[in-house]
Amino acid sequence: MKKVMRRMGFFVFFGLIGINALLCQQPQQPPPVTVQQVKGNIYMVKGGSGANTGFVIAEEGVLAIDAKMTEESTKQVVAEIRKLTSKPIVSVVITHSDGDHVNGLTGFPRQEIRQIIAHEQTKKDMEEAFKDSKMEALRAYLPTQTFSKDLSVLIPKTCLADLKHFGPAHTSGDAVVFFDGEKVAFIGDLVFIGRDPLIHRQKGGTSFGSVDTLKKLLELNADIYISGHNDPLTKKDVQELLTSMEDKQAKIKSMVQEGKSLDDIKKAFGIVDQPGAAAGRRRPSLVEVIYLDLTEKK
Ligand SMILES: [Zn+2]
Repeated sequence: MKKVMRRMGFFVFFGLIGINALLCQQPQQPPPVTVQQVKGNIYMVKGGSGANTGFVIAEEGVLAIDAKMTEESTKQVVAEIRKLTSKPIVSVVITHSDGDHVNGLTGFPRQEIRQIIAHEQTKKDMEEAFKDSKMEALRAYLPTQTFSKDLSVLIPKTCLADLKHFGPAHTSGDAVVFFDGEKVAFIGDLVFIGRDPLIHRQKGGTSFGSVDTLKKLLELNADIYISGHNDPLTKKDVQELLTSMEDKQAKIKSMVQEGKSLDDIKKAFGIVDQPGAAAGRRRPSLVEVIYLDLTEKK
């Protein structure tokens, strides 16, 4: 009897959740925005809608690195910054053009910002994306300053950030924001840990470029790497990703040389595409990206 009651309780409990879920059709709330001190005046911001972002409080003002995906979440970031300083947000650096890093730019107070900096290709990708009438408000947040390879930015007096582009990798406009003094690098989506790295071939990204970029990241005199979708990383994390990507590339290369098809190779790696995923929205696996990098002329 006790067992039956317990089972009934279980049923009622889940029954209620079911009704609740039917009544509340609202999308899931993103996790709260939280600020974590990385080193000195350098902070990372987790949570909200979108990727990790960061900011640095310098003498004259704040440098922000990336926006969240929504205006609301970016406004929450700004509110967190205001708790730490009354200084204006004078500079924004964008690591790349993906929506989860830029679509919430409108949450930053535009009147305070003197410069928005990105790689020149990222600016082009943003201009293209913001042609969409739903994104009109974002046009006021297009980069005001671009760079192609390296740019040292003296961001309000004492805070020197080195912006670096190591060639096409996650996209063809990735920027690394490196603080030499603190040995901290913000690396956008150049590194993913715990899942296969995402490479946007449609934005000029390549797996072989990613490997070159990972090597450059390891050469940086950095102890802490802040990526878009992980907790702070170390050189060891970057090295492990590099090793696994090179290993995968070597295996796929020899399979291609043996005349194996993409399907054979995917099967060998246990890759199963999501059934019914629309071709345009499908995110090809790393294995497929490597195969295409090896076999398709771009
Ligand atoms: Zn990305």
